[in-house]
Amino acid sequence: MASRTRKVFLGTFIYSKSREELSYLVNTAVCVDESGKIAAVREGCDRAKVEAEVLPELGWSLEEVEVRACEEGQFFFPGFVDTHIHAPQYPNVGIFGKTTLMDWLSTYTFPMEAKLAAVDQARRVYTAVIRRMISHGTTSAAIHAARGVESTNLLADLCLSLGLRALVGRVCMDEKRTCPDFYCDESPEDSVLHTRACIAHVQEIDPGFEMVKPVITPRFAPSCTAAALGLLGELRKETGLPVQTHISENAGEMALVAELFPDVKDYATVYDVHGLLGPDTILAHAVHLSEDEAALIAERGAKVSHCPSSNSCLTSGHARVRWLWDRGVEVGLGTDMSGGYSPSVLENARQASLVSRHVAVGIPDGPEKERAKLTVEEVLYLATRGGARVMGLGERVGAFEVGMEFDAVLVGLGLVGEDGVAVGEGNVDVFGWETWEEKIAKWLFNGDDRNCRAVWVRGTLVHERA
Ligand SMILES: [Zn+2]
Repeated sequence: MASRTRKVFLGTFIYSKSREELSYLVNTAVCVDESGKIAAVREGCDRAKVEAEVLPELGWSLEEVEVRACEEGQFFFPGFVDTHIHAPQYPNVGIFGKTTLMDWLSTYTFPMEAKLAAVDQARRVYTAVIRRMISHGTTSAAIHAARGVESTNLLADLCLSLGLRALVGRVCMDEKRTCPDFYCDESPEDSVLHTRACIAHVQEIDPGFEMVKPVITPRFAPSCTAAALGLLGELRKETGLPVQTHISENAGEMALVAELFPDVKDYATVYDVHGLLGPDTILAHAVHLSEDEAALIAERGAKVSHCPSSNSCLTSGHARVRWLWDRGVEVGLGTDMSGGYSPSVLENARQASLVSRHVAVGIPDGPEKERAKLTVEEVLYLATRGGARVMGLGERVGAFEVGMEFDAVLVGLGLVGEDGVAVGEGNVDVFGWETWEEKIAKWLFNGDDRNCRAVWVRGTLVHERA
């Protein structure tokens, strides 16, 4: 779904220049071509200058261009990247109760996912979750679907038609000792056969994988036999497709991995010996990794999806993002709905900030304690550019740079008038004296979907708040 119209966006553009620093481009024009790519970025530019200088340079005429300018209190930010989400679990958000991972799976997750084998139910749930994600500014997501081929293919169709850039994976789970009878692949071959069917479908609807790409998805090591993991590893080698799965989320799960794979050194090695650990592998959670595992993951170039909200909800623990970065592991953010309660990556960015403070509490006084705390800039990097790199989209999205594709959110904050009444929706009140850095921090900690005024993917408007 490429944009067919050339567009010019005017105003303030904010994005991660690096992990530590945000770029603030004010009075800027970003020109987006008909394929959704950024053709020019000009600072110190107003509408008149665009008409007089920028458009002629690009060889574009004013009549063919759509112009969208920020209003007061608004700015453009890169679309959010959710590197780990389970679309079929959306109806279960917030109802985790007192469960931890393994009983949460059997009580809530498996029955819900099995229910979505009915395609009409899947359509209802998947349409709702994609629309909800986009309304919160998510423009890319690595999605775990359910076991059904038909419902997984439907999910890919809906991502394409509703405009969400996505990796879509049919979950593989064939281990009879851990999967319920009503929700289990018949055999390792069955896991691969069904995965191939989903790959073939995406090849049909999006042959270049421009918007939607299949992803090989062993649910997690305890739900797959060694034979299935091996075959999926071979499939990865054959197709060059990415892999997504879970790792080291909670103590019970880790004990189960040790029991089911007694001859393998550790959890990360289980994936590695089966050919599933590489630069295109997304590992969700990574809360309790050992030094050896982190070194192996870094060596293979595999990526981590940090899911702070989920890890708090299911009492799994707190992942050490600085520790992972120090060991050379790239990290993004995952909502992990419905282990996590929120479809919002912004919510997870603020949770990442809070969880990093919990990590700091456990470190003795000194520079390391301070370093453990993530800054506003760092969590917003995780939410955008870091996540894009985790999804293999680092060259394409996550910033406003020439040659990248325009995935963006127009953010609007509430301006408080002289009478004390804020103009504009939402929970972020701005008084006018704040610096840009302060406005961004206020938005991070109090913003929500009401501040997402409009959302574009590849230059195409996919959401606009009435
Ligand atoms: Zn998950």
